[in-house]
Amino acid sequence: MSRRRQIYEGKAKILYEGPEPGTLIQYFKDDATAFNAQKKGTIQGKGVINNRISEYVFTRLNHIGVPNHFIRRLNMREQLVRQVEIIPIEVVVRNVAAGSISKRLGIPEGDMLPHTLIEYCYKDDALGDPLVAEEHIRCFGWAGHDEMQDIADMAIRVNDFLCGMFAAINIRLIDFKLEFGRIWDGDFSRVILADEISPDGCRLWDMVTGEKLDKDRFRRDLGGEEEAYQEVARRLGLLQDDNGPSEVFDLSKHRKLRGK
Ligand code: C5P
Repeated sequence: MSRRRQIYEGKAKILYEGPEPGTLIQYFKDDATAFNAQKKGTIQGKGVINNRISEYVFTRLNHIGVPNHFIRRLNMREQLVRQVEIIPIEVVVRNVAAGSISKRLGIPEGDMLPHTLIEYCYKDDALGDPLVAEEHIRCFGWAGHDEMQDIADMAIRVNDFLCGMFAAINIRLIDFKLEFGRIWDGDFSRVILADEISPDGCRLWDMVTGEKLDKDRFRRDLGGEEEAYQEVARRLGLLQDDNGPSEVFDLSKHRKLRGK
């Protein structure tokens, strides 16, 4: 179908060579995985919604001076981004206990953490993305001291921004995952935010009902994942798009097609 050179295929996205050196095209799939890809499925229309939500968030982060890889959205499922050298660390920011921290430390889900926590996991599917300390990151040269300082500063800025953005639409930001990469200018590099920010990598709870509006609906077989992603986009005001929303957001059509 496409003659572009594929650079990488991940669980939820494909990266293609971009039109100019130093750029890539990031394609958002509907594929969903959980528990290190032990559970696989599809969330109809997810790729389109995540492309749109991530565009919105990265554009606004750019406006407040958080450097990131986003250049522009190209179409319903693709965006043009800057090519970065990915730092092999998943940066998890937590405001409220949920998911793996609740399991690991026995903290009840929903407990407010005394302060925002940043955790780091080493990106390695075969190892199950293990939790690591900053010491490991420096020791094994995955990122340097100054880079880690920049990453932590940006993660906190992103958290402050996202907490406010979601609170304004009655959503509690429980936790989320970020990825960073290096861009080079001669011998010098700097770290910028990369990947995506969407309900795939965030826990988002409705402020009034506590309902989950994120990938936990898929992970925990709660159902209604399409509607949840759509609801987040709707509250952000992203559904009145001129670029053919009916093709994407008519979930009743998708359900009929899937025989539901
Ligand atoms: O599973 P855990 O509680 O550690 O996840 C914390 C946050 O990071 C959640 O919002 C989850 O969606 C996100 N995450 C992710 N990709 C991973 C691991 C976690 O997006 N590989």
